[in-house]
Amino acid sequence: MKRPQMESRYKTYDYIIAGTGAAGLSLLCHILSSDNLKDKSILLIDRDLKDKNDRTWCFWDTGESPFESCLKHTWKKLYFHSPDCSRLLDIKPYAYKMLDSLSFYKYCFNLIKDKTNISFIQDDIQHIDQEEGLVAGLKDSYQATYIFNSILFKNTAKLPGKHYLVQHFKGIFIQTKFPVFNAEEATLMDFRIPQHNDCRFVYVLPVNQTEALIEYTGFSKEALSQEYYDQELRSYIQDYLNISSYTITHEEFGIIPMTDAPFDKGSKKLVNIGTAGGATKASTGYTFSFIQKQCAKIADNLSNGRHPLFQSSKQLDKYRFYDSIFLRVLSEKRIPAVSVFNAMFSKLPAKVILSFLDEESSLFDDIRLMYTLDKAVFLSAALRNFF
Ligand SMILES: Cc1cc2nc3c(=O)[nH]c(=O)nc-3n(C[C@H](O)[C@H](O)[C@H](O)COP(=O)(O)OP(=O)(O)OC[C@H]3O[C@@H](n4cnc5c(N)ncnc54)[C@H](O)[C@@H]3O)c2cc1C
Repeated sequence: MKRPQMESRYKTYDYIIAGTGAAGLSLLCHILSSDNLKDKSILLIDRDLKDKNDRTWCFWDTGESPFESCLKHTWKKLYFHSPDCSRLLDIKPYAYKMLDSLSFYKYCFNLIKDKTNISFIQDDIQHIDQEEGLVAGLKDSYQATYIFNSILFKNTAKLPGKHYLVQHFKGIFIQTKFPVFNAEEATLMDFRIPQHNDCRFVYVLPVNQTEALIEYTGFSKEALSQEYYDQELRSYIQDYLNISSYTITHEEFGIIPMTDAPFDKGSKKLVNIGTAGGATKASTGYTFSFIQKQCAKIADNLSNGRHPLFQSSKQLDKYRFYDSIFLRVLSEKRIPAVSVFNAMFSKLPAKVILSFLDEESSLFDDIRLMYTLDKAVFLSAALRNFF
């Protein structure tokens, strides 16, 4: 006999997507591409209208991403520079892609403009009750079978034995009067800049002959002051790109967590996604392509009637172990970070490095990569992590 159900006081949906940034909207796209899920009732909630270009995502992949039509640029050749080596890497079969967030937001919201089963509410979420499947906003409360949350609510206390670094960066799009860039070739990492006993490098991503994104990036315990990034960007553009006259057309700043501390993935009714759900790769800060894998997996589980967090078998996650060792080496500064990247990029094909960083490498390639590293430093870090 079916038990009578208590009627909810709140409007109830199949799914609530709390936070419509990279992860929320990526999950929406994966849900919409499934015949079993596309008619579910879905509520999207964000405190912003997502009508600004608030970040630029870069990532590499081998195929067509679902957002191919919104890409700003794609490169097949990437430079690596350090004081000891400069290499132009052919990254086949990968392509390095740039997506501006506003094109992505517009594309995703356009997909649902005629859909009556999907709605968006602008509200500031205060709390999520995972037992009840209830989202409490400032305007109202909302209920669903599953809540997919990408809001980082609080800084939880740091765990002993775990490493906490951040990837911090300031990027500027510059426009020059005359053609100075080669838009076929980007710089993934330029370590020739002063390292200050830290890990610092610059990206140069030209989108045409007169426009490029230049980004000053560090992996460390804390971010730097805005004046510091500005000064370093000015010096780099003058000294390494030999450009003295340009206009800044867009700026962005970010701090991305790099930690081996576990993220709460959720439980019965709550599923954390994106950075909040641990999609940021601890050793690089890259997140966008991991969000795509995370969302594809969730949509596949839902489509097959399983819990969104279902995993067919418990696998030993070698990449979490590698990331943790790398974070220890970076945190303890026993060797200059530049020497680690220099060893990899000077000795290995780009494909091996990119597949490793993308967590798609074979054990054989893992061993090739490890062979390039300072064995005493990495082995002792691995042993200390293990025990
Ligand atoms: C400037 C910048 C550049 C980056 N570039 C790259 C890159 O090139 N490659 C890469 O792989 N990764 C990059 N990242 C890291 C990562 O990909 C992004 O941070 C990505 O946006 C994370 O997706 P997310 O959905 O987890 O978070 P977000 O995209 O930040 O989405 C969270 C959403 O929650 C909303 N929200 C927050 N609090 C509330 C609240 N209380 N109530 C309602 N809504 C709320 C926000 O408005 C936002 O829309 C970058 C990060 C930044 C900040």
